[in-house]
Amino acid sequence: MSVVSFLENEKYARLRDTVREFIEAEIPWEKAREIDQSDQYPHDLIAKVGQLGLLGLNVSPEYGGMGGNVIDVMVLYEEVSKRLPVLAWTLGNVTLYGNEIISINGNKEQTEKYLPRLVNGELLFSFSLTEPDAGSDAANIKTSAVFKNGYYFINGTKMFISGAGVSDINIVLTRTAKSRYGGITSFLVDCKAEGYTATPIKKLGYNGSDTCEVVYEDVKVSPQDILGGEECLNQGWKQMMNTLNGERLALSACALGIGQAVIDQVITFVLKNYNFNNIANQTIQHRIVEMATELEAARQLAYNAAWMEVNSRDCVKETSMSKYYSTETAKKIARESMDLMGEFGSLEETDIQRFFRDVTILTIGGGTSQIMKNIVTKTLGI
Ligand SMILES: Cc1cc2nc3c(=O)[nH]c(=O)nc-3n(C[C@H](O)[C@H](O)[C@H](O)COP(=O)(O)OP(=O)(O)OC[C@H]3O[C@@H](n4cnc5c(N)ncnc54)[C@H](O)[C@@H]3O)c2cc1C
Repeated sequence: MSVVSFLENEKYARLRDTVREFIEAEIPWEKAREIDQSDQYPHDLIAKVGQLGLLGLNVSPEYGGMGGNVIDVMVLYEEVSKRLPVLAWTLGNVTLYGNEIISINGNKEQTEKYLPRLVNGELLFSFSLTEPDAGSDAANIKTSAVFKNGYYFINGTKMFISGAGVSDINIVLTRTAKSRYGGITSFLVDCKAEGYTATPIKKLGYNGSDTCEVVYEDVKVSPQDILGGEECLNQGWKQMMNTLNGERLALSACALGIGQAVIDQVITFVLKNYNFNNIANQTIQHRIVEMATELEAARQLAYNAAWMEVNSRDCVKETSMSKYYSTETAKKIARESMDLMGEFGSLEETDIQRFFRDVTILTIGGGTSQIMKNIVTKTLGI
């Protein structure tokens, strides 16, 4: 089956239509600009996505979800990113850091406790891996969890944690033994716990995503708060690996949406400002054709990798290629479109500069392009 034909099937077409209708009704362009400028987390829009049942897109019906998979999530993220990329990013506080991590790695008690409440919009999750000295070199984490008198006490600092100030549950990767990969444990931390402090960081792009520094000072958790339960002590690295394909694909979809939105906007702009009966302007048409072709190639790569993931094929190479290529392509499209639009593209009231700022983050978050290339390098046996 080709990638195009499975995306045309009724299920995905219906989902795409639902999301498009939601966007037209609930996120006029002015609202998208307002959220960017005010840097406010879009709680109200997440609640409305919940009313459509879409927070449970990738959750089993047993827990109130729709029983979909990463392809459904990609369709949602791609469409949303065409209007308000930060909404797709913040939906990650439910669908990726909540649903996906708990469905894959949670034990029975945790899935029963959290999934229904994620689906009905009661809970937001955040995911703390990165530290000041552990970004690309993620296994270098120093945040510790020390066992004392029946409890673990977490101490350390995490950086760039999305939604850490607004979330209810924070999944934190800690060092519990010396072994580089085999000494990491993930805990589910209640964000109201004493000693948990999240401070927002000002940054370029994805305004409204509540990116934070998180400090843990003697945060007390019980052995039952280990992701997957007590028997998953020191299994944190392996658990994280299980979710990386899904994250790379979701971020690819964000890039596809932004790339498409930018192309749509640049076409509107050039139609208004250039006379295409003039042969000299053919160069502009060709530049846009190149962008559209590269974006279509990225889309085929991403959904092919997603099909492999859903059908349990080994696809670390394909998801990493997709994350690298989709995000770099969308970034290139945004940069070139800013050039094509001249001074107009940089005006604050235009959307193009907002898409340009947002897409810049996509080549960093979830593993940088260089790290994706390192992963592909290994799969090629070089
Ligand atoms: C908006 C935003 C939201 C984020 N949200 C989260 C979150 O929710 N949870 C979380 O845990 N983290 C989050 N992150 C962190 C993100 O995953 C890291 O920023 C990313 O992994 C890169 O780490 P770093 O920023 O420390 O860069 P560094 O690792 O310091 O890298 C700096 C540069 O060196 C390059 N480099 C590093 N090592 C190598 C190598 N071995 N080979 C080639 N090049 C290399 C990198 O590609 C990069 O260009 C977020 C980041 C951003 C920007």
